[in-house]
Order: sequence, then C-alpha cells, then structure tokens
Amino acid sequence: MRLTSRLAVMALAVASPLSAVAAQGLTAIRAGRLVDAEKGVVHRDQLVLLRGERIESVQPGSARIPAGARVIDLTRYTVLPGLITCHTHLIGDITGPPLAPLERSGAQEAFSGVRNARATLLAGFTTVRDIGTYRAFVDVALRDAINDGTVIGPRMAVAGAYVTVSTGAGEVTGMAPDVVLPSDFRFGVANSVPEVRQRVRALLNGGADFIKILATGAVLTRGTKPGVSEFTEEELKAAVDQAAQYGAFVAAHAHGAEGIKNAVRAGVRSIEHGSLMDDQAIALMKERGTYLVADIYNGDYIASVGREQKWPAEFLRKNDETTEAQRQGFRKAVAAGVKIAYGTDSGVYPHGWNAKQLPYMVRYGMTPMAAIQSATIVAARLMGWEDRVGSITAGKFADIIAVEGDAMADLASFGKLGFVMKGGVVYKGP
Ligand SMILES: [Zn+2]
Repeated sequence: MRLTSRLAVMALAVASPLSAVAAQGLTAIRAGRLVDAEKGVVHRDQLVLLRGERIESVQPGSARIPAGARVIDLTRYTVLPGLITCHTHLIGDITGPPLAPLERSGAQEAFSGVRNARATLLAGFTTVRDIGTYRAFVDVALRDAINDGTVIGPRMAVAGAYVTVSTGAGEVTGMAPDVVLPSDFRFGVANSVPEVRQRVRALLNGGADFIKILATGAVLTRGTKPGVSEFTEEELKAAVDQAAQYGAFVAAHAHGAEGIKNAVRAGVRSIEHGSLMDDQAIALMKERGTYLVADIYNGDYIASVGREQKWPAEFLRKNDETTEAQRQGFRKAVAAGVKIAYGTDSGVYPHGWNAKQLPYMVRYGMTPMAAIQSATIVAARLMGWEDRVGSITAGKFADIIAVEGDAMADLASFGKLGFVMKGGVVYKGP
C-alpha cells in the first residue's frame, strides 16, 4: 500500500511537473524591472514578497529577504501582473467548418477546454473572461475543475452559453431547416423580453458568472449580418436588469453601429468587437463608461489562414468588411478616451497566441503601458475583480509573469514569456 501511494504521488508529480513548487510559505521575487499597472510606471530593482497564494508586499530591492524564504531571481526580467483577456472561447474549436461543433461530443468539447486552458495559462494569461460556448455550461465545468485543482488553467469568469435570437449570431446555423439541434446548443435562445429574462435567470442559476448577449449578427455565423441588430434595446435592457439582480453584468457582442448604441443605452458593461461603430457610438460609450473589447488582431489571422484553409467565402467576405473598419474605430475610441479592455477572440485563432494583439493596440493608438494596463488592471476592473487580480499589490493573488529584458520596449516580446506564476505556483520558470 505504501509503495502504491508513493507511486501515486510520483505519478502526480510527473503529470504536473510545473506545479511541483507548492504555494506555501514565503517566497521572495527579485525583479529587475517591475510594472506598476495601477500607476502606469516601471520601477527598477524591486523585491516582491509572497505568502502562499497572495502578495504580501512590494519593496525596494535593498529590503531584507526574510530567513527561510524561497528566492526567485528575476533580476534580468521585466516582472508584470499576470495578463487578463476578456474575450476567449476556451471550449471547443471554433475554427474549421461551420458545422464542426456538431461533430464533437460534449466530452470532446470539455477535453478541448483542458488543452486550451493550459495553453492560455502558459502564455501568461492567468485570468480570462470566457465569453461563450455552443454547448451550455461546459465552461462552468472547466472553471470549477480549474478552481478545484483538477485542471491547470487560468482563473475563469464564464458566460454559460450565448443569449441569442433564434437563427442569430449565437446559434449554430447552416443546417437544413428541418434539422433540430440538441437542447444544450440552444440553451440561451430568446426572442422576447420575457424569454430574455427567463434565459438570463437560467444561465445565472446554472452557474454562469455573467451574461453574453449577441446584439447583432456575426462574422463567423452563417447567414447573420454583422451590421444588423438582432435584439431590440428593450430586450437588451431586460438582460441587463435581470443580470443586475444577481449582481452580474452583460457583455454584448455588437458589430453594427445601431446595435452598439442599443446595447450601450441598455446599460451593458462591455461592447465586444465594436467593428462598425460610428462617432455617436464612441461618444455614447465614453459618456456611459462602457468598456470596448475589440479583437483587432484576429482579422489578419482569418484573412490569411481562413483563406488557406478554405473557410466559407461568406466568413472571409464579412471578415474583410469589418477588419479595417474595426481598427479605425478602435483608433478613434482610444483617442476619445473610451475604456479599452483586452480581448482577442482566441478560439477563432489558436489558444496561447493571446499576446499577439498587444503590438496591434500600440499600432492603433495606445501607448505600450496603456496596452499592458488594458490587459491587466483595466481588464480586472471590467470583470469587477480588481480586488484580487490585475496588479502586483499587497493582498491580491500572486499571479505574476516575467519577460526577459525590457519588455515594455517591445510588446512583441510577450510571445516569449520566461516565467508564469498563478496563485504562488510556478507553471513556467527560468
Ligand atoms: Zn467571440
């Protein structure tokens, strides 16, 4: 028995070697450069003390290291809070033929989430707002499995499913009209104010953290038109009001300007994509404090890989019609002072490439520090999680990453991460 249990422990250690350093006791991180995401400045030569899964203090590098502390030397690195993306789809493989979700069982979807969650964490994204799955509640299961230690992955806030009109942007479309989908694919379908309220309740009662609603058509949903509104302002408001009773917020997928304005006026927390927004929409977002989560990288991926892999012509056309417009709108929104939170639509492109959008955000008007803040403290505020993540601050989770050299001088360097810690556990180290 003793041998068996020792073998079991060894097997566990081999299965997850990266978490072999347990989160307990005191750890001291020597940081050559440390990014203060709250203040938007970089400090040289700092000492970060961690106790268990939390940050205990941040002091000048000359401070004394307590006896017995484990020391991690990151003096050659830029040390930052773990990155946060507000728009991932960790469940499934969105890329591929439009009906691909129907070729995969719920179990296969769940295991794809295990793979995708691990890739995302190892890319330095220690928190994600996961913004929808075709099969309802697979994301809830993944979140819970990460939280209880079964699966390695980022902290997750999840949507449970898509709230969408029937045949709308959140549906699997393109089948013959007489083919009936299983109910878990259609959990969030609603076509009136009472139905929206009822679906929002069902999702939040079922374990979702927030609501994802599809306010307009989509690029990657067959038949739907990105510029066309799918829910009315009244229906969007019903979702916001119902979610608010649970202390939850609503994220609205919206490409068309009218759909964006309907969603902002309805009180959603964030606009996803925002591809075809006009000046009035930008002014309204600024006025209401609505966050913009714009996936300005992945249009290039779809245009090149989608074309190579012969994605449907309709998808490629709609991608072409939204990519440049979205980038110009993004530039205007940045200039207008709209709150920008990081989100890339990973799942449309491969998980683990999440940092590729950082240089794009600089190209379209942000400073490197503002881009990093959008992927740390601003994203944390959007999620309502600024009390626990988003900066290296005493009391928050010890979610810390590091990039060799002066990372802020070249945001493309975030693709080559040297160190990832989540909750005091090292998953990738020098
Ligand atoms: Zn998406």
